[in-house]
Amino acid sequence: MRYGLAALCVACAILWHTNELQPAGARHDGPQPESSVRAAPALQANGFQASPIIAGMIAEVQAARLYSLTAELTGEWPAIVGGEPYTISTRFTGSITPIQKATQYAYEWMAGAGVAVDYHPWSASGYSNRNVVAVITGTIRPDEIIMAVAHLDSLSPAETRMTLAPGADDNASGSVAVLSMARIFSQYSFSRTLRLALFSGEEQGLLGSNVYAAAARARGDNIVAVVNMDMIAWNTPGSLPTLDVFIRPTTSAGYTDDLTIAGIFTHVVAAYGLAGQLIPEIYPLWIGASDHASFWQQGYPALLLIEDYYGSTRDFNPRYHTVSDRLEYLDLDYFTAFVKAALGTVAHLAHPVVPVHVIYLPLTQRP
Ligand SMILES: [Zn+2]
Repeated sequence: MRYGLAALCVACAILWHTNELQPAGARHDGPQPESSVRAAPALQANGFQASPIIAGMIAEVQAARLYSLTAELTGEWPAIVGGEPYTISTRFTGSITPIQKATQYAYEWMAGAGVAVDYHPWSASGYSNRNVVAVITGTIRPDEIIMAVAHLDSLSPAETRMTLAPGADDNASGSVAVLSMARIFSQYSFSRTLRLALFSGEEQGLLGSNVYAAAARARGDNIVAVVNMDMIAWNTPGSLPTLDVFIRPTTSAGYTDDLTIAGIFTHVVAAYGLAGQLIPEIYPLWIGASDHASFWQQGYPALLLIEDYYGSTRDFNPRYHTVSDRLEYLDLDYFTAFVKAALGTVAHLAHPVVPVHVIYLPLTQRP
């Protein structure tokens, strides 16, 4: 019996160690607002090792699936909501029925993937709506929580937002990443607890995530890391596949924790063959314009993953917050690689638990 056990412990040890690693790949010489810190490829020698289990998860991310999920979430074709076809043409927080259908669609998608899911109603600043949060409870350190989040709501000019706000890049792209994680992670066990959250009210001032993060802090939730994805599918055709990673400034008490998460992301990009498809740039800047900031406000480690938003090479989606932010303009290769990198990062943070197979060797073959 012994034999089996020994093999198992080694496997667990490797997975644990990987995630506690300080980011060796990323170099940082203090605040450089304009010039970015281009992360050097991860060095396997630093102990970060690709995990075959996580490689398997990453391989399950497929462009065709991302495309059809985005098409349903942005009204390119009808989605099934409550068993009925419904075209989600806007996800504006104030749109009443459409946003209700969009959150129901996300809820049913995650429930259909086999994960526990719940609505979190909130009221703030004259708005009332709900977040959708799925939970995969950890099997070894369940009190340590890893979150993957994105805002589901969308926006377009005042005269159109009640009826038409496709928001394919902003932020169906991040939402589809969270939904894809629910489908793929539902087949695995993790040491830590995973929470996959879709917030509403982001465009009105991070309303849904503010309420959620404050409640988590009040409960004393031990959130170890938050990975926020907002606009991860636009890249000007023919341009470098740059992306930005925002963490708290070097002067912030939370800087090192955020940098650790960022380092795991850059390791994942290098270790899983994504280095040619993504160029991460880490910025230690307090960007408050998305849901990660609600967690920063509560002192939780978090980062923002976003397309090339900042710096001299800025390549921001020109159709941002217009009725033309549609699926047809997204860079599907960039989007797919981005989802793979984000999913790999969240998986490394949550520590997949190796399934235990007890093999009974016939007496003759025992060592
Ligand atoms: Zn957004």
